[in-house]
Amino acid sequence: MKVHEVVCLSALVPSRLPGLQYALNPYRGCQIGCRYCYAPAVLRDPRPWGGYVEVKRNMPFVLARELKREAPGVVGIGTVTDAYQAVEGRYRVTRYCLETLLPHDWPVSIQTKSSLVLRDLDLLGGFSRADVGVTITTLDERTRRVIEPFGSPASKRLETLRRLNEAGIDTWAFIGPILPEATERGMEDLVAGIAEAGTRKVLVDRLRLKEGTWAMLEPSLRALDEGLPALYEKALEGPYFADMERAILDLAARHGIAAEPAF
Ligand code: SF4
Repeated sequence: MKVHEVVCLSALVPSRLPGLQYALNPYRGCQIGCRYCYAPAVLRDPRPWGGYVEVKRNMPFVLARELKREAPGVVGIGTVTDAYQAVEGRYRVTRYCLETLLPHDWPVSIQTKSSLVLRDLDLLGGFSRADVGVTITTLDERTRRVIEPFGSPASKRLETLRRLNEAGIDTWAFIGPILPEATERGMEDLVAGIAEAGTRKVLVDRLRLKEGTWAMLEPSLRALDEGLPALYEKALEGPYFADMERAILDLAARHGIAAEPAF
């Protein structure tokens, strides 16, 4: 894993994602290395995904300047790459950005796969509006280890949701991308686990292939099962994802969870 410190020129970037006015990404590259990740396509970065992280170490200073001149709005943190990947434990750029945002009290919305977000509960609790979304794709640990190699197990992510809820932080779960077969296995338990954690909102998303995604995903699927690539191709061509989205929305409703497609 190559970790480089880089200098960023801007911190807040206008966002077109639903509900967000700005995006803030303290890292470029991601150690979690999900095989379906869209970020390399968004960043148009040809380097092997999961093999590098650039740390925008000066971001809190740039952010402080921008907060004085920009109009307040919801800041999405980690919209391209996870803001709580392992190097954040050492560099704390995300934490320093939250410290910079807090006196301005702009709303923040975080999406992560990592329990490291719990470290910043003290800051998050100080915002008038802060929410945290935790991504969980499957309860199937064998799939998770291959497809999200340096992510935490689903059980830890559910525990993260529970602790955030206990601390009074608004939470949501992101079930996506749906992984054919793997998401289905244990889907009832996954939705029940989200409800038991106290989360009342779920966003669901299908698998979307961007440029280069299939080349990254296919060998990992094959490593899990020779037949999986063909099964995924069939799912991508047919009604599978629409059916799965509907099934998850129905299941969520039965557990008292408001669920909707992410896009
Ligand atoms: S955690 Fe997010 S940014 Fe990192 S590899 Fe996975 S999908 Fe990509």
